[in-house]
Amino acid sequence: MNTQIPASGLERLTAQIDLGALAHNTRIVAERAPGAAVMAVLKADAYGHGALPVAGAALAGGATELGVTTIDEALALREGGVTVPILSWLSTSGYEAAIDADVRLGVSSPRQLADVVKAARAVGRPAVVHVKVDTGLARNGVAPGEWAATRAGLVDAERAGHVRLQGVFTHLAHGDVPDHPFLDVQRDALAAVVADARAHGLTPELVHAANSAAALTRPDLHFDLVRPGIALYGGVPVPGTDFGLRPVMTFAAPVILIKPIRAGDGVSYGHSWIAPRDTMVGLIPAGYADGVWRPLSNRIEVAIGGRRFPQVGRVCMDQCVIDLGPDGGGVAEGDTAVLFGDAPGADRAADWADKLGTIDYEVLTGVRGRAARTYTGAP
Ligand SMILES: *Cc1c(COP(=O)(O)O)cnc(C)c1O
Repeated sequence: MNTQIPASGLERLTAQIDLGALAHNTRIVAERAPGAAVMAVLKADAYGHGALPVAGAALAGGATELGVTTIDEALALREGGVTVPILSWLSTSGYEAAIDADVRLGVSSPRQLADVVKAARAVGRPAVVHVKVDTGLARNGVAPGEWAATRAGLVDAERAGHVRLQGVFTHLAHGDVPDHPFLDVQRDALAAVVADARAHGLTPELVHAANSAAALTRPDLHFDLVRPGIALYGGVPVPGTDFGLRPVMTFAAPVILIKPIRAGDGVSYGHSWIAPRDTMVGLIPAGYADGVWRPLSNRIEVAIGGRRFPQVGRVCMDQCVIDLGPDGGGVAEGDTAVLFGDAPGADRAADWADKLGTIDYEVLTGVRGRAARTYTGAP
């Protein structure tokens, strides 16, 4: 068994976060982007891993900046004692508190820029701004038709001392397809905007575009800084690749009850699984309210002591059942069943995602409910 997850004695459903693996993964990204700074992306409570402990591990692994979506996420990190640069790119209110807490702001339109200027005036110090340009994702970011107005606003705001334009960035539509031609289109569009900004006297020192996938595979998109998220958590940034990344979250539960059932007995709601023979079944206190997706019913296996056992019958809100076989598979009540993560024989979150028709980002951020987060391997 993995040395960090006990073979038995786990008291409850657990999402164990290996901070050593997180630091390791950060180092891998940093080594692959040697000319760029690393901004660890900690949005959505660090993809469900816990933003504050993850921040410490990412910084230990070589990240020098942090990125989040909302200002509330940034302020929570500040309240937790994090002093390194933090960029927040999705809030449209709360700018005063952000400026006050030295949080850098992503700006996606001339209207947002005007609001940031107003907030900077009120606080009495300049806002540090990264303008986000939409180079083809059509999500947040300044639309091409609004760039000239945004740039003019930035020039005025800098002159008045309300804003310092520190960065220009964009986000990729096909980052996970390393040879996609649209990556070139977005790279060139970003470079053109940066050139135009410079031609008008602006001096952004941080140009950035790369998420995990591009940080690992596309040096031409590294610019000054890369923004990895999923790679830090040991996800699979590019399908079919590994890069030596280690899973950070191990989702595991004790087997809390073992009992014999007879051939022909149905298991769980709707009897979607009927025992084909006399067998022993084990009960796992994890269900769809905790992030074991109901559509995975009868489709996954858990790892116990390095052996895999099929989950059988419908996954319920709070529990699910596994088939241990006629001889019980050598499993005892109290043994640890690993749902996914870093243990011999265990699935990775990406295996669940493939079965669900989604991505491991959603599987990881879906772990919730009664899953207690615990931390090991602090670097
Ligand atoms: C989520 C996000 C990232 C990180 O993306 P990954 O694919 O998880 O590496 C980077 N930049 C922005 C703007 C994001 O929203």
